[in-house]
Amino acid sequence: MQYKPEPTSWIEISKSALEQNIRFIQKTLPEKTTFSAVVKGDAYGHGIETYGPLAYECGIRHFSVYSAQEAYQLLQSVRGEFVLMIMGTLNHHEMMWAIEHNIEFYVPNFHSLENVLKCVKKSNLNAKIHLEFETGMNRTGFSPKDFKQIMSKINETDLIEIKGVCTHLAGSESIANYKRIKDQIQQFQKVKKKFELLENHAPKFHIACSAAVLRYPKYLFDMVRIGILQYGFFPNNETYIHHYLKQPEEPNPLKRVISWKSKIIEIKTVKAGEFIGYGTSYYTNIPTKIAILPVGYAYGYSRKLSNQGKALVNGFRVDVIGSVNMNMLTLDVTNLPDVQIGDEVVLIGSQGEQTISVASFSENSNQLNYELLARLPKDIKRIVVD
Ligand SMILES: *Cc1c(COP(=O)(O)O)cnc(C)c1O
Repeated sequence: MQYKPEPTSWIEISKSALEQNIRFIQKTLPEKTTFSAVVKGDAYGHGIETYGPLAYECGIRHFSVYSAQEAYQLLQSVRGEFVLMIMGTLNHHEMMWAIEHNIEFYVPNFHSLENVLKCVKKSNLNAKIHLEFETGMNRTGFSPKDFKQIMSKINETDLIEIKGVCTHLAGSESIANYKRIKDQIQQFQKVKKKFELLENHAPKFHIACSAAVLRYPKYLFDMVRIGILQYGFFPNNETYIHHYLKQPEEPNPLKRVISWKSKIIEIKTVKAGEFIGYGTSYYTNIPTKIAILPVGYAYGYSRKLSNQGKALVNGFRVDVIGSVNMNMLTLDVTNLPDVQIGDEVVLIGSQGEQTISVASFSENSNQLNYELLARLPKDIKRIVVD
């Protein structure tokens, strides 16, 4: 007998949903603005090796990742011509590899810029860099005051091409940050002016993520780096309401790309007056029919969803009862007479008329969409569906 493991749950990636989201994004952007698809964090949990090729098939020709490892995975899985940009910091070895593979990458400080100089001098190859500037987030990036010193370094060689000049906004999804974001944009525009005067470089200017595309549409410049929107989610409720008030005729232009499913492995009825699972967190007041799912916190189903989570069975919404275990959880299916071992259960997604969105899921578990998606384990099988 050959060993053939069966997954206890699987993730479906919807091509038609992705096509719809890409159409919406393209329609929202000015024609000259490049859409870079951000696929860091294992494509926000969608699985970079499944999602990359699908996004390419749907017309994406510019990808942004965070690490050299993600860049490698994308190169391995996507066949065809596209631009690849790394937004994180690379060490000397990774930078050399990126240069050899014609990958563009962020340079956020002089340490990194010195590395670029060493790499191009050693290899005699061109480096395509994006200079990241600090405009008020206080994370990574050069100070705008460094302009002259940066250019004198870069001008030591003609092997460095400034492909982009960029910054990141500190919370454009919330109006509470309006003043801070506006100040950042102003800082960036000063930097931009200096680079526009250069004769031998024509960088693309980029600052916007998903929320900024919706909230600050005047400042999209040459390129936008879009993550969460392409997967079918608004960055938060506030950006959704903002969009809705602007375009009430199109209440939900996005479609969730991901679904997460599993199958029931056990059904039994527990008499009244018993506790279910570990400890005493769930007590049966009446005879209770339960269904066991082979999914637990080891598979990304947060333990915080104990006695909180919802799932869909036979088109009905049912409760998670008792504590979520490492490999199992329990559902209350008392009111579903026809439920059987092997029935499909939806943890995220739709069944019949019902939907469990990642947002409602994560409000229950106090996780943002972003975090919940990024924590879906890499070894759950991803399948592309229409
Ligand atoms: C993750 C990331 C983005 C994309 O953010 P979304 O809110 O998902 O659109 C853009 N730029 C940088 C630098 C990022 O790290």
